[in-house]
Amino acid sequence: MASISMNRLAEGAEKLGVTLDSYQLNQFEIYYLDLVDWNNRINITAITDVGEVQIKHFLDSLALVSVIKDRSNVSCRIIDVGTGAGFPGIPLKIAIPDIKMTLLEATTKKVLFLEHIVKKLAFNDIEIINGRAEEVAHKLEYREKFDIVVSRAVAELAILSELTLPFCKIGGGVIAQKKGDIQLELEQSLKAVETLGGSLTKVGKINLEGLDDERYLVVIDKIKATPEKYPRRSGMPEKKPLK
Ligand code: SAH
Repeated sequence: MASISMNRLAEGAEKLGVTLDSYQLNQFEIYYLDLVDWNNRINITAITDVGEVQIKHFLDSLALVSVIKDRSNVSCRIIDVGTGAGFPGIPLKIAIPDIKMTLLEATTKKVLFLEHIVKKLAFNDIEIINGRAEEVAHKLEYREKFDIVVSRAVAELAILSELTLPFCKIGGGVIAQKKGDIQLELEQSLKAVETLGGSLTKVGKINLEGLDDERYLVVIDKIKATPEKYPRRSGMPEKKPLK
């Protein structure tokens, strides 16, 4: 195969401290081709240019690798809440094959793509759930069971905390990927984070060439159990954020 160039990805990944071998680069290439192919029929991403996908989807996702490796052993259990077409969950699974990855997505057509690509890329230890965080987080097998919860571009932090912290083990953490001016959003999330058993620990800036906006990683540590009533029923975290 190897018909299109994943050089940008390979070079950018090196700068992030992530070395991708030819098998992994080939997995990214297949992912790119099928993403664009499916996107012709069902709208799953606004970004389809090969250079842009490498930066804005693949490398942006891989910016989490060092944070994950610093926090946990490589076989840790991770859930990606609102993964869409698989970001950041699938790039992370390609880059760190030993992690146990759960992809959670509410929209069925996106889940169909996820099922297709996960099968094609022949991963072990990956699970896809078609559902809403508000419901899935109350199931015993998923509640407070993950070392790390990741989420990109799903909701503002006050809302996102309610959709993510209930999945996280005490001692684990949430890593949220955010864009733009996040100062006010951070301030407005403090009450929610505390109510849900978290502690806002760190905000890091992502430095990637070719990005035209500011991108941040927000790390929230889980320091105590989330009260049982959270998350509230579907839609409530968004309708009435815990501000
Ligand atoms: N993380 C992906 C997708 C972002 S779009 C990326 O960065 O490209 C946000 C996605 O979150 C959508 O696909 C939407 O269906 C999903 N989503 C929003 N609220 C959700 C919820 N409560 N539970 C599960 N998925 C949700």
